[in-house]
Amino acid sequence: MNVIEAKCRGRGIRLTGQRRLIAQVLSEATDHPDAAELHRRVVQRDAGISLATVYRTVKRFEAEGILEKHGFHDGPARYEPTSKAHHDHLIDADTGLVIEFKNEAVEELQREIARQLGFDLVGHRLVLYGRRLKGKGRGKSKG
Ligand SMILES: [Zn+2]
Repeated sequence: MNVIEAKCRGRGIRLTGQRRLIAQVLSEATDHPDAAELHRRVVQRDAGISLATVYRTVKRFEAEGILEKHGFHDGPARYEPTSKAHHDHLIDADTGLVIEFKNEAVEELQREIARQLGFDLVGHRLVLYGRRLKGKGRGKSKG
């Protein structure tokens, strides 16, 4: 059973065959796909799944807190399972590639900014947009 299906089961959500396949493909994805990309992948395994079904399913998963939705730049919403540990994202402005990172100094700085404003930080979203430096290798892209 994949992580999304397991979470659904934990919440008492029954998955039809099509939704289970969408859950499976989402669980395998490491690139934060949008709904259109997700649809391209699921129809390779079940040609009968419509884009509308994919949209409805990701909306449902998102509403249940199973998927995290990202609005990178002005592009379409992109999704990743919420089960993962906290991380931030850097987007390649030329290719749209999503690179995950975590930096303790940045985390602490954000806590400090919140403290100075009189708040206890409970969450944040940080997205960097960049162009690859000439002569630098491909960054690591993971789920
Ligand atoms: Zn991510």
